[in-house]
Amino acid sequence: MAVTVKESMPPTRLFIGGKWRDAEGSRTFDTVNPATEETLTSVASASPGDVDVAVRAAREAFDTGPWPRLAARERGRILQRLATKLREHLEAFAVLETANNGKPIFESRHIDIPTAADVLDYYAGWADKIHGETIPVSGDLLNYTLREPLGVVAAIVPWNFPLLLASWKIGPALAAGNTLIVKPASVTPLTALKFAQICEEVELPAGVVNVVPGPGSVVGQALVEHPGVDKIAFTGETRTGQSILRGGASTIKRVTLELGGKSPNIVFADADLPAAAKGGLLGIFYGKGEVCAAGSRLLVESGVHSDLVEAMATRAGRMVPGDPMDPKTRLGAIVSKSQMEKVLAYIETARKEGARLVSGGNRTRIDGRGFFIEPTIFDNVEPGHTIAREEIFGPVLATLGFDSEDEAVERANDTPYGLAAGIWTRDVARAHRVARRLKAGTIWINTYNRYDPASPFGGYKASGFGRELGMHALQSYTEVKSVWVNLT
Ligand code: NAD
Repeated sequence: MAVTVKESMPPTRLFIGGKWRDAEGSRTFDTVNPATEETLTSVASASPGDVDVAVRAAREAFDTGPWPRLAARERGRILQRLATKLREHLEAFAVLETANNGKPIFESRHIDIPTAADVLDYYAGWADKIHGETIPVSGDLLNYTLREPLGVVAAIVPWNFPLLLASWKIGPALAAGNTLIVKPASVTPLTALKFAQICEEVELPAGVVNVVPGPGSVVGQALVEHPGVDKIAFTGETRTGQSILRGGASTIKRVTLELGGKSPNIVFADADLPAAAKGGLLGIFYGKGEVCAAGSRLLVESGVHSDLVEAMATRAGRMVPGDPMDPKTRLGAIVSKSQMEKVLAYIETARKEGARLVSGGNRTRIDGRGFFIEPTIFDNVEPGHTIAREEIFGPVLATLGFDSEDEAVERANDTPYGLAAGIWTRDVARAHRVARRLKAGTIWINTYNRYDPASPFGGYKASGFGRELGMHALQSYTEVKSVWVNLT
């Protein structure tokens, strides 16, 4: 049954130690619906003092509370209950995500929220399978390892998949027995707060999950510098990741970074061209292009270049941004005014630098309102052009050409980033050969933007380090202890 944003709204205060509370000085900030430009509500804005209270609550829950000491299977059951609650309240979560982020309700309902529940379920299954090993050491000695939780984890998440990317951190952190402080992006705090509400419903022990909205420069930084935080699990811009590494250095924090990308989508002349055209569009326009792994550089082999670009431009011309709450909409609103202005500035720069605009390029509005941008394709982009090098994080595709497999690989790897890449070809050997040569954490062959809770995701080079999802993520939420026993 359809629910309204108002009915879905969680308490908009800080959630610390199992209780809702105002921020110090009752400070708040407004959060906006980017499709209507209307203020949705005001949300408590945490101070460094509030962060300290949250860290103490998470610390206490870890050091003396039941969570890390629970039978692993019981932790798994509670995680499963969280997944079930997410599904029970799917509509409320979906409506909030769409109202706050501008993404189509189709995506919130069928992708973001159900997948977040799947991620929690996946890690629920891992909870009682995290164990050490016995090592065949020499001498009359027994050596074994224990895999222990790290402690207090600060999960700092971006605005593009607010709940889904939080679940990538919450799932493995909780399964391994850690406690958490979740810092949602300032522009999209609502579903993290709604998640706190379901933590209350499943009676998660107090302090195991805390949610502290507020600006990154205040709340994020306070978490990074706090000696009571053991690990920062961060997703966001590469520049912010660099500042987190620096900030965490003085307390030797464990850090995992999921950062930006400028991912190549490579189309060889022998590819199934209609499929490649569809995949190329999905690669850049899914999620309004606000996707870290977006296929934002289309590399096309010369023989099919103009045919492919023409086919994609024709289809893109028919993709009109729509009201995100309409179930038929597939392209929503850009998350904020400042993000929209950033994307429009990149479009202007591309024009000035001499790229050829073949589709879109303009801001649009619905009923005179909203931060919408037409799906935009540029052709004749040179490797040195700004839109071929910098992450735009919007619905803007840069098309470049190539003449040989070697040139395709060289161009694809010619970026500081290394998050993902797509390969379109009918030649099986070439597909695997090129996959090996690309410096990226995820390779899609004849498909794009596929994810699964069981498959690891993360970056090479400036796209970060550490892996989320799969069994790989669990390693970064645990310490290994080696225990020696004298057997004589
Ligand atoms: P951002 O770096 O501006 O913010 C991310 C989070 O960090 C927010 O919660 C923000 O408040 C916080 N933050 C900001 N400054 C901080 C500081 N100094 N210390 C600590 N925390 C701070 O990123 P964004 O604009 O929210 O998200 C977009 C970026 O995220 C893009 O670059 C995108 O590629 C990246 N991203 C990467 C992945 C991935 O898995 N690799 C996934 C999604 C998004």
